[in-house]
Amino acid sequence: NTYTFQEVMQYVMENDVKFIRLAFCDIFGTQKNISIMPRELSRAFREGISIDASSIRGFANANRSDLLLFPEPSTLSVLPWRPSQGRVVRFFCDIKYPDGTPFECDARQVLRQAQSDMKKLGYSVKIGTECEFYLLKQDEEGLPTKTPHDNASYMDIAPLDKGENVRRQICLTLEEMNLRPEASHHETGPGQNEIDFAYDSAVTAADNLITFRGVVKTMASVNGLYASFLPKIYRDHPGNGLHINLSLFQNGENVFHGEGDGHSPVAESFMMGILTRCYEMSAFLNPLVNSYERLGVYEAPRYITWSHQNRSQLIRIPAAHGVNNRMELRSPDPCANPYLAFSLLIRAGMEGIRRELKLCDPCNLNLYDVPASMVREYDCLPNTLMEAIRAAQDSTFVREALPEKILDAYLSAKTSEWRRYSDAQDKSSVIDSLYFY
Ligand code: GLN
Ligand code: MG
Ligand code: MG
Ligand code: MG
Repeated sequence: NTYTFQEVMQYVMENDVKFIRLAFCDIFGTQKNISIMPRELSRAFREGISIDASSIRGFANANRSDLLLFPEPSTLSVLPWRPSQGRVVRFFCDIKYPDGTPFECDARQVLRQAQSDMKKLGYSVKIGTECEFYLLKQDEEGLPTKTPHDNASYMDIAPLDKGENVRRQICLTLEEMNLRPEASHHETGPGQNEIDFAYDSAVTAADNLITFRGVVKTMASVNGLYASFLPKIYRDHPGNGLHINLSLFQNGENVFHGEGDGHSPVAESFMMGILTRCYEMSAFLNPLVNSYERLGVYEAPRYITWSHQNRSQLIRIPAAHGVNNRMELRSPDPCANPYLAFSLLIRAGMEGIRRELKLCDPCNLNLYDVPASMVREYDCLPNTLMEAIRAAQDSTFVREALPEKILDAYLSAKTSEWRRYSDAQDKSSVIDSLYFY
């Protein structure tokens, strides 16, 4: 379902809508919103709704602090957990300056540009994410504890699995919001879960992930639980990954093929573009100090390699058919800003296609099991957030892919996070403060 302006106005009138949330994200991918009353809506479409940017992290250095939110009619979605009388709906918005120029730190528009540049090259990119999260018990204040909701493991069933009702509510809520959940299961860690929904074009896929994270947090809290997307909660259990599946369509045909059918040169160049730039963009795929604790253990990759078979690799080509053929990038985690992450991946893939890069050989080793001498020849992802920040700072690719304002604000915020961590006497208390992610 996508709505035009007229249909939106009609929907609001006919469905007892009383509050309209205008949603956008800061440069870190944290969702923000302001609620307006229905009688303001047509003005919002026409003139935009003004907000003060100076208190939004990463927006503050904007020289002009008045910004306007313009709702995008096609993103209309009801918030099913809010009252059914006097309903609440939300739109994702474009952010502009009062003179109508796009705001440079609006990552959603950055992604739209990347998507449309890829289109000009002849391909439409489709993205599907698989997002993992832990359900934790809450304390009396509603804050997360370190105790998982259950002690179940991979694909376990009740009564070991105590997450079935929460997953059920998440899936039903997603459907009401026009996302298409496909599968859900208990993941390997205690209290860890995964829910997958259908792929879509890049901007919609990023919007959907933002919606998803909100729904998961809300449904957990409705059930007296806390959902955490922190990449590595327990040292001795798997981390939370955000696998990003990418495919490319040319004239309606997927350029990714199944194993054995041979890959099209375009798909191979696209993949090679991503392999080449993945190190430099890690600060955007793995944004927290804690992100780097996850990589290299429990099915999270460390080496910059690809394979058809093996889950220890950065890129895996899953066994699939037709439109579902794709590449799966396994390093990102759920704390990434999907708008920036997808923009960088698309730009890297485009560079690969333009330069007609040749794909390196697959690596079919299980990289967790082989002796160190055998993996020495493979390049690694950054070991720390600081290493990733430096790589991004030194990268002409990243500089060209992202607006300077976003890049500078993002990297300076990440540098402060790193300093706070590296200067701390008690490092675990710094990590404890991140459970709210
Ligand atoms: N949890 C793993 C990670 O950190 C992924 C496990 C899986 O889905 N196979 O990426
Ligand atoms: Mg999965
Ligand atoms: Mg998984
Ligand atoms: Mg996967």
